[in-house]
Amino acid sequence: MVVRVVPVQREEKLTWVERLYLPMIIKGLWVTSRHFFRNLWGFAAGRSTAFVVQYPEERVDHADAFRGMPVLVGLGSGLPRCVACGLCEFACPTKCISIVPGELPDHGIERFPEQFQIDMSRCMFCGLCEEACPEEAIVMSREVEIAAFDRDSLVYEKEQLLVPEPMLKRRLEFLRAEYERTQLSSEDA
Ligand code: SF4
Ligand code: SF4
Repeated sequence: MVVRVVPVQREEKLTWVERLYLPMIIKGLWVTSRHFFRNLWGFAAGRSTAFVVQYPEERVDHADAFRGMPVLVGLGSGLPRCVACGLCEFACPTKCISIVPGELPDHGIERFPEQFQIDMSRCMFCGLCEEACPEEAIVMSREVEIAAFDRDSLVYEKEQLLVPEPMLKRRLEFLRAEYERTQLSSEDA
């Protein structure tokens, strides 16, 4: 099920009607009431218009901008794209990333994460690690089903975090488009 994304254009300055607040409160109540009665009518007529997902049989196909669990981009060789620079570790506000760098002389790789852990019990899905990464090696996935019986099990190891690149194609393309858009708008400014 694809979620419809409604882009909201917000004016920076409020009009005098908006500054009065009361008309906007009435407008908000009108929108809520309209949805309520439309859904009620649909329910009574047997044609539900409410957004209902029969979880877990049905899953929501989140928008590309959705930020779920951070994961590591896996290359075709099975190795992570990460070069263990530590920028994500530094950027993480909850300090839930822990990296131990290593070397893979057999593969001609000078630096790779020998160990890469994320403590999901502390992660707040903020996406700062993704923003900080210069290699597109850590991205926010759509995964949100994280459950465990104890906190130790929520410390995800590199092997659990690795996701093959083709499976992250939509997110990576979204990120590239976003970088391009912000670059163009900063050039225009
Ligand atoms: S999403 Fe935020 S909290 Fe989670 S690992 Fe990345 S930077 Fe840290
Ligand atoms: S910022 Fe990217 S390349 Fe650097 S350690 Fe983190 S995931 Fe690896």
